[in-house]
Amino acid sequence: EAKAAGRDRAVTYDAGLRERQLERTELVERLRAALTAEQFTVYYQPIVTLGTGGFDAVEALVRWFPAPGELIGPDRFIPAAEDSGLIVALGEWVLRQACRDAAGWHRQHGTAVTVNVSPRQLMEPDYAATVGRALRDSGLPPAALILEITEGMLVGAANQEDRTIAQLSALRRQGVRVAVDDFGTGYSSLAYLRDLPIDILKIDRSFLPSGEPGAADRQLSFVRTIVDLAHNLRLAAVAEGVETPAQVALLRELGCDKGQGYHFGRPRNAAETTEVLAAAQLTAALPVGA
Ligand code: C2E
Ligand code: MG
Ligand code: MG
Ligand code: MG
Repeated sequence: EAKAAGRDRAVTYDAGLRERQLERTELVERLRAALTAEQFTVYYQPIVTLGTGGFDAVEALVRWFPAPGELIGPDRFIPAAEDSGLIVALGEWVLRQACRDAAGWHRQHGTAVTVNVSPRQLMEPDYAATVGRALRDSGLPPAALILEITEGMLVGAANQEDRTIAQLSALRRQGVRVAVDDFGTGYSSLAYLRDLPIDILKIDRSFLPSGEPGAADRQLSFVRTIVDLAHNLRLAAVAEGVETPAQVALLRELGCDKGQGYHFGRPRNAAETTEVLAAAQLTAALPVGA
């Protein structure tokens, strides 16, 4: 009887797996069509210098609008795009769009732009050339572009790490900066910090103290340790997922360089971002006490 039940479960599992594979294939086909139909949009979220409150950069975050009024977030389609390889085309589209949008913001406000990069893109032999072309075509200076890589993605074939190092070095020689995204959530974090040529460390939001009194001590030592780690390695520290004024005060106290999160602003489309940046500059230009 147990054997029969086991067999049943195996059959159910296989059917579920097949269904998921079918869904995946369908999703990839829809994504491919969406790229041609220009259903993707890049949103931007501010990254703020904690010392001054100034908008230092914006992070480009892709959104999918499959139909009017319908929005799908990247967590629901980036994994499929990565598995299928479609991320190479989608990622290049995001990069070019982000550079174009940011060129004007950089001219007017000195704002930089950060773009998320998938492992598959970094493994393309001509990726550094792709980035160089996006910069030239948009007029955005290399110093105003930051590429974000997630450490989880770097786990893989033995020579993948060498290739990643070579690619990142080539990009940095062009003057582009590199950030490690979601630091602390992947594998071998410290080994990567030691070996990879990087400039910025983005602390995953799961490390931010919630602000609730009591359990805060241990959380606090953790963030402090990561900020100090970044500074000892001469990296800038950016806190992700900042949602409350208490967290801002705390991060300032710890000497964290920058913050990003709903407290400073949600991701918005390019037109809204243009307004947000102009308003921020106006506020900054006001004389104290005005
Ligand atoms: P990420 O690069 O770590 O981006 C930060 C995510 O946290 C964004 O989610 C952002 O909307 C969200 N977030 C920002 N502030 C807060 C906050 O205060 N609280 C909370 N709870 N969340 C906050 P989003 O836009 O859904 O993107 C999810 C992930 O998808 C990104 O994580 C990134 O890994 C990936 N992604 C987005 N765009 C691209 C892209 O163009 N290419 C690639 N390869 N991945 C992308
Ligand atoms: Mg990111
Ligand atoms: Mg992140
Ligand atoms: Mg993330």
